[in-house]
Amino acid sequence: MIIESERTKAASGKTYEVRNPATGEVVDEVPAGGAADVDKAAKAAAKAFGSWSKLAPAKRAEILHKAARHMLGKVEEIAPILTKEQGKTLLESRLEAQRFGENIAWFADLADKIHGEHVSLPDTTTYGLVVRRPIGVTGAIVPWNFPLTLAANKVAPSIAAGNTVVLKPASTTPLATLACIEALIEGGLPEGVVNVVLGAATGEAIVDHPLIRKIALTGSTPTGKKVMARAAEGLKKITLELGGSDPCIVLDDADLEAAARAISVGRFFNCGQACLAVKRLYVQEGAYDALMEKLIARASKLKPGNGLDKDSRMGPMHTETQRAEVEAQVKDAVDRGAKILFGGSRPKGGDYDKGWFIEPTILENVPDGARMWTEEVFGPALPVRKIKDLDEGLRLANDSPFGLGSSIWTASMPAARRAVDELEAGYTWVNALQIAHDELPFGGTKQSGFGKEHGVEAFYQYTEQKSIVYGGV
Ligand code: NAD
Repeated sequence: MIIESERTKAASGKTYEVRNPATGEVVDEVPAGGAADVDKAAKAAAKAFGSWSKLAPAKRAEILHKAARHMLGKVEEIAPILTKEQGKTLLESRLEAQRFGENIAWFADLADKIHGEHVSLPDTTTYGLVVRRPIGVTGAIVPWNFPLTLAANKVAPSIAAGNTVVLKPASTTPLATLACIEALIEGGLPEGVVNVVLGAATGEAIVDHPLIRKIALTGSTPTGKKVMARAAEGLKKITLELGGSDPCIVLDDADLEAAARAISVGRFFNCGQACLAVKRLYVQEGAYDALMEKLIARASKLKPGNGLDKDSRMGPMHTETQRAEVEAQVKDAVDRGAKILFGGSRPKGGDYDKGWFIEPTILENVPDGARMWTEEVFGPALPVRKIKDLDEGLRLANDSPFGLGSSIWTASMPAARRAVDELEAGYTWVNALQIAHDELPFGGTKQSGFGKEHGVEAFYQYTEQKSIVYGGV
């Protein structure tokens, strides 16, 4: 763990092993922290808040830029660590480590751009101001699918706004996160501004800790509900980035080559373990056969393999349980009459038998009510359905408890406009690859959570407004 810039053991002395999903080998052994460690980290963060929040914002920006530059110089060291603990390909790990540093720099640029307001009051010998202040110590709880980018989404706006952080990575992916925070510290991030605690028990302890004033969680919807209920005890601010089941609608007039590329990246990137991913595909009749041909051609090039091997195009799934869950969802669809168009099983033999590998999978004729439509599919399996028109596509797309992302491919501006107006989601991509941009607020609706990460909006969510009346002026 990292508390006050020092590598720290758990108070209990307990440790656990981190294993490589491609080989089953032990990558490292790390402290299994608990409530006592969260307490120590929260106190360190509260101490650091005193000086960090009082720094001139331009100075804070300068420190963060320097730290981010130093971290970005270590991307090649950090990427293999991420691949070994998470499973993703080296290319995906490099992109992710790069995004971590870029995100810190993006929010550093905002540090000295916090704005308040002047407000006229009825008594002209007084005037009102609204200022924005940092909140205090914030908690960041992160899942295993994108350990670095999802940590940066919370840490970067929080510290740029003058807060300090207790960060908890997922138990199975602590190593690259530790390396990134250590690199920021080596690059000049002051002691105690970001502290890292490890171990499954630390999540609840962060939510409970009285010094921690805001919780940002990325995780599954059931975890979000638990965290929300628990955070209510301490009346804490919360941001919840939860599960998703993003629909994608392709109409007859779409650019099918571009659509196939985006759907393939959208579903199979990171071995399908992404919150923003094309998880349900609705294709108009006239485009159906051509699009399926293109999608299958792309899926067939995604060779599963150890993420460290140069010719691997898709790493293993992160855990055995996660793979079993996706296989059960696919089996449920097949049992109900779905047809597998591509993949559908595990690659077998040799090194494949050591890890949690799975084939990219595409299914058609998946009946209503199948788990692939009603649940989040957190792996590389895509259910596809033929639709008559946009009306049917929009109805099916919105028939989900989730509302994270969504996309539409069409040459018709009126059709795109309707989709933008009617899709129930926090993001809609029109003829564009599903990428979450730093510049745009990102977050879900419905059971996908609330609050925003990315954008100026995320920065402001790490501040509180305070009203001031100046009398006798
Ligand atoms: P998870 O909910 O099991 O765990 C997420 C984090 O929360 C982990 O660090 C975990 O230890 C911690 N946690 C678990 N229970 C907790 C509790 N009661 N109190 C406090 N902390 C607790 O999720 P996961 O399996 O690691 O990740 C996959 C899920 O995350 C998927 O549902 C995916 O859609 C979602 N996700 C959402 C986004 C988004 O931005 N909306 C992004 C990525 C992943």
